[in-house]
Amino acid sequence: MVLELYNTLTRKKEVFKPIHKDYVGIYSCGPTVYNYAHIGNLRTYIFNDLLKRSLIFLGYKVKHVMNITDVDDKTIKASQKNHEKLNDFTRKYEKIFFNDLNELNIIKPDYVLRATENVQDMIKMIQKLLDKGYAYKASDGIYFSISKDKNYGKLANLKKIKDNKERIKNDEYDKENPQDFALWKFYAKEDGDVFWEAPFGKGRPGWHIECSVMSTKVLGDSFDIHTGATDLIFPHHTNEIAQSQAATGKNFVNYWIHTGFLNMKEGKMSKSVGNILYLENLIEKGYNAMEYKYMTLNTHYRMPLNFSIENLDASKNAYQRLKNIISEIKNDKKVNDKYLKEFTEAIEDDFDMPRALSILWNLIRDENANGKIETIKKMDEVFGLKFLEKEEIKIPSEVKKLVDERERARKEKNWKKSDELRDKIKKLGFIVEDNENRSKLVKI
Ligand SMILES: [Zn+2]
Repeated sequence: MVLELYNTLTRKKEVFKPIHKDYVGIYSCGPTVYNYAHIGNLRTYIFNDLLKRSLIFLGYKVKHVMNITDVDDKTIKASQKNHEKLNDFTRKYEKIFFNDLNELNIIKPDYVLRATENVQDMIKMIQKLLDKGYAYKASDGIYFSISKDKNYGKLANLKKIKDNKERIKNDEYDKENPQDFALWKFYAKEDGDVFWEAPFGKGRPGWHIECSVMSTKVLGDSFDIHTGATDLIFPHHTNEIAQSQAATGKNFVNYWIHTGFLNMKEGKMSKSVGNILYLENLIEKGYNAMEYKYMTLNTHYRMPLNFSIENLDASKNAYQRLKNIISEIKNDKKVNDKYLKEFTEAIEDDFDMPRALSILWNLIRDENANGKIETIKKMDEVFGLKFLEKEEIKIPSEVKKLVDERERARKEKNWKKSDELRDKIKKLGFIVEDNENRSKLVKI
């Protein structure tokens, strides 16, 4: 059995061959911390985690690196709007981001690097690119000259690059118009107190150089897997390849893996369309993070995922039904090799999670199968869906207050008030069961 994965660079499934015997190096583009990550962004982080969990399940050791983009055009602008120092502002959103990952049962990457803490290494790489003639100085910054790179644009399948001399300071730009891009942006008044001194002039790094530096810093000049959402293929990942390979003279990454978008009825979920949903919004509506995660696993990671509340409801029902059935199964301490083998084959086929989930369902429905619980346990090492964990019930503070009040009423033998409070609690979705000494709260 071999692991095959789809490589954006070659546009086909390839047999996975790690560079090092003892570990697989993965770099994932992390969040730009100027706002909450929406559920479309979170889909990508769920997949990054599934990828890592799958490799561990298959017996590999993994070094997983992720960056935090805590300085760029967007973070500077947003922090100024909020009258906060850049670091204070970005740390807040960083914390919220990791809370979301935690809710989704995503294992934190082994290395998390902040851009602002790695600027000296970025300056070094930019100097190298200047020394080698791949970069040049313009009036507003240091730029990478794409005409110097014969392979520029291979990842994004760009048509022949026009020999233009245009350049762009903005980090995000249109695929139809590849241009020389900023490695370093010279200080401008709008940057406020955000700048670093560099031999080529004070300023701040461009977004693309951040990832080239932070990935190679931990994983070396060449590493195995780089992940990100599909919209990062151009310009971000295209530029990462150009800079890194020009600086090191070596191949940068062997396998590029990209996750599909999350589509709403109105199209792709994006800030510019204004159809954003955050994890918190789903929780407010009565869904939990595992139910959303279950939903994302039902679509192959490369495919667009069509999000709707009906779709989420169906996932919620399926997930809860699955958990209920599993909670009734007795553990015979055996493992079911037949189902585990089928499951492994699905994982090895470009991380086919929809198939892996259907194998789990088949196992559960198979009346003659043994070893169900131990096999589900192994499968859940990959899914991370907490199939065997008892649900902890979160009691809203409002309900807690009413319960305390009711306890007091009962002590005072004020049965009328106690019954009224019980009704109030019921309206909030909880039933109070009175035992001899204490009351138990049950969620409806
Ligand atoms: Zn990146």
